[in-house]
This record gives sequence, C-alpha cells and structure tokens, in this order.
Amino acid sequence: QNVIETGALFLRYLPEVDMRTGKVLATEALVRWQHPTRGLLAPDSFIGVAESINLAGELGRWVMRTACADFARWREGGVGLDAVLRVNVSPVQLVADGFAESVAAIVSEFGLPRGSVCLEITESIVVQDIDVTRITLAKLHDVGIQVAIDDFGTGYSVLSLLKSLPVDALKIDKSFVRDLGADPGDLAIVRAIIALAEAFGLQLVAEGVETETAAITLLRHGCHRAQGFLLSRPIASDQMEALLRRGRVSVDFSAGLA
Ligand code: C2E
Ligand code: MG
Ligand code: MG
Repeated sequence: QNVIETGALFLRYLPEVDMRTGKVLATEALVRWQHPTRGLLAPDSFIGVAESINLAGELGRWVMRTACADFARWREGGVGLDAVLRVNVSPVQLVADGFAESVAAIVSEFGLPRGSVCLEITESIVVQDIDVTRITLAKLHDVGIQVAIDDFGTGYSVLSLLKSLPVDALKIDKSFVRDLGADPGDLAIVRAIIALAEAFGLQLVAEGVETETAAITLLRHGCHRAQGFLLSRPIASDQMEALLRRGRVSVDFSAGLA
C-alpha cells in the first residue's frame, strides 16, 4: 500500500490576493502528508522521495484530481467563479508521456472553464527538457490551461525562452521577497522581474510576503498580486471556500504608500 492509498495525503490552500483591494484572485493547492509516526510532513520532505520511487505521476494525479474536485464543488455553490486554481507540477510529471492529455481530461471531467486552472512549473525543468516542455506547454495552452513559472529567479536563466514559450505568469521566489525593503539587492532583482513581466505581458505574483514593508515595496513598484503569511497562511479546503465566498481578505497598506 503506497502513501496515496493510505488516505494520509491532504491539501491546504494558499490564497493569492490583490494587495490594493484584498480581493482573492487565486488559490494554490499545497499537498501535505499526515505521517503515522513522523507527524505532518511538508511537500519538500517527500516529493523528491516520491519521484525517486516513481510515485510522482500518481501523486500528481491525486493532487490534480482532488484540487479540481474541491474547486468544482465551490464553483457549483457559486463561489470563486472568477478565481484561478493553481496546482504545482513536479519536473518528472511534466515530461512524462501523456501528461497534458491527463490534465486536460481531469479539468474537463470537472467541467472547469478555460483559463480557470494554472499549472506551476519550475525554471529548471523548462531548461532541462526544452523540446518536450515546449510540446507539452503548447498542448496545455490549446486546451486553455494556464502555466506559471514558480520560484522565478532561482533556477537557470529562462529569459530567452520567455519569448517563445506559452507562459502566462511568473511567481517571484520568496527568497527575494522576504527581506524586501531592507535588502537593496533583493529590490534590484524584484524590479528587474517586474519589468520583465510587463515587457512580456505576463501576470506577476510575489510569493512569501511576510511583512508590511515587503507588501508596500511591491505595491510601490507595481506588483500587486501576492501570497504570503502576512495575507494568509495555507488553510483547509472548507476555510478556502469560506474565504472565496467572502471574496476578500482585509488589507490596508495605504498609510505606507502615502
Ligand atoms: P511553492 O509552490 O513555491 O509554494 C509556496 C510555499 O511557500 C508553500 O510551502 C507555502 O506554505 C510557503 N509560503 C507561503 N507564504 C509564505 C511566507 O510568507 N513565508 C514563508 N516562509 N513561506 C511561505 P509548502 O506548502 O511547504 O510547499 C513547498 C513547495 O513544495 C512548494 O513551493 C512546491 O514547489 C512544492 N509543492 C507543494 N505542493 C505540491 C504538489 O502538490 N505537487 C508538487 N509537485 N509540488 C508541490
Ligand atoms: Mg507553487
Ligand atoms: Mg514558489
């Protein structure tokens, strides 16, 4: 019996917010493993192992299916109709045979409209397997599934590929966001990424906003979509549904912007 069959996996959801208004724009599914002896495990501690024993595909399909089922249920109740569901994809999954078809089948089984689901991939895969990646991303694009580059800025440089790959969004890695306002080097990197996103017409999301200073610095430089512990911790499915029903979190960075 593998971890998926034991029923010990579950999802948390991290809201993505427009920091100008507090509106919840998207929600990211994050997998957790309630381990019988080791307690609650974060994905970084088991995704790599799952990949090494060829469970990445099965794990990825479980996450995709479970997140789409939740999202479809919320939508049936009229909740989150203009929100986007974001799902992380591991490198091994993305280049596996039939990946795009399998994602498309799940999304259509749950009747989710074009543009409402976004896959998050990391820079490293894009570079490693560029030919397979290009074909897969094109197929995803054709069926209306969005793609975001996660942890942007930490991997290899995909700057030249941004103009040729069908990518919809960049997510600024949290290592550049955490100390924003204090570290001039981080600000320089963030400003460069903001300019890049603008030039290529990509959506831009800042990850790991923990402080008001970081939020205000991002807003000042024109990045208003963000996620992070300042805005919300990862929350359970029914809490995410309630948050989407409310539609917004409370934010007020206006004093810092004046
Ligand atoms: P990620 O996709 O970049 O997700 C954001 C991670 O940053 C999450 O950690 C989230 O809890 C954390 N985070 C959010 N806001 C803050 C903040 O303000 N401060 C700090 N310090 N952390 C913040 P988590 O859930 O432990 O996930 C870690 C990584 O594991 C994810 O990074 C993603 O790459 C991967 N992952 C998560 N779920 C899945 C999944 O279902 N499949 C795959 N393949 N990978 C996943
Ligand atoms: Mg992510
Ligand atoms: Mg990230």
